[in-house]
Amino acid sequence: MVGLKALFFDLDGTLAETEELHRWAFNQAFQEAGLPVFWDRATYKDLLWVTGGKERIRHFLDGCPACPSLSQEEVARLHRRKNTLYALALREGLAPRPGVRRLLEEARAAGLRLGLVTTTSPENAEVLLEALGLRFDLVLAGDVVPRKKPDPALYLLALERFGLEPQEAVVVEDSRNGLLSAHRAGIPVLVTPSLYTQDQDYREAGAVLEHLGEPGEPALVLRGPGQGGRRVVDLGYLEEVREWSST
Ligand SMILES: [Mg+2]
Repeated sequence: MVGLKALFFDLDGTLAETEELHRWAFNQAFQEAGLPVFWDRATYKDLLWVTGGKERIRHFLDGCPACPSLSQEEVARLHRRKNTLYALALREGLAPRPGVRRLLEEARAAGLRLGLVTTTSPENAEVLLEALGLRFDLVLAGDVVPRKKPDPALYLLALERFGLEPQEAVVVEDSRNGLLSAHRAGIPVLVTPSLYTQDQDYREAGAVLEHLGEPGEPALVLRGPGQGGRRVVDLGYLEEVREWSST
């Protein structure tokens, strides 16, 4: 059997619970622009199915008869302002989810390569990684491929960059879109659902845990190896997930 050589992580919701910060920044940008738009949690939850900030704004406006019609340039400007507000809010402090830093450090010490694979913009990705104090060998963000998650293009590119076969990596994601993207690329996936993605369908996942766990705070295994018990996700557990996924 081939050994585990790389870990790929999604960003929003997986490394940290960033969506509430995103929602606040979108609303702030709408307000500053004088738009009669406010995304409450339920609205935002529905909009999360649309990946990419510009696409999300456009999708909402297209389905909102009472909203003014904006040009592509106006949407792009609104999105840039949202990103600036988000970056400012990030500096107030945002912590990684349980187990994220520990697992990254363990993987790095074992010689694994670490990739960040996200549909958020490169600017957001850079600011967030700096705020969280996390480092990756490869960052694929935003528009580097024409089709975003759940298309497998982003994960196929990540494998190509590292020169790896799908079974030599494990992906950590927090949403169905992310799971499908990685699964369609053939990579085993461990899902840690976030605030907005608790009730999504994760049947293709190799494992689903409430989070990655810490030694003093093991995570409930909702699906996969050790189901029903509590585990701390380490490299040994990821090997179990790979075996589980290949059967
Ligand atoms: Mg996510």
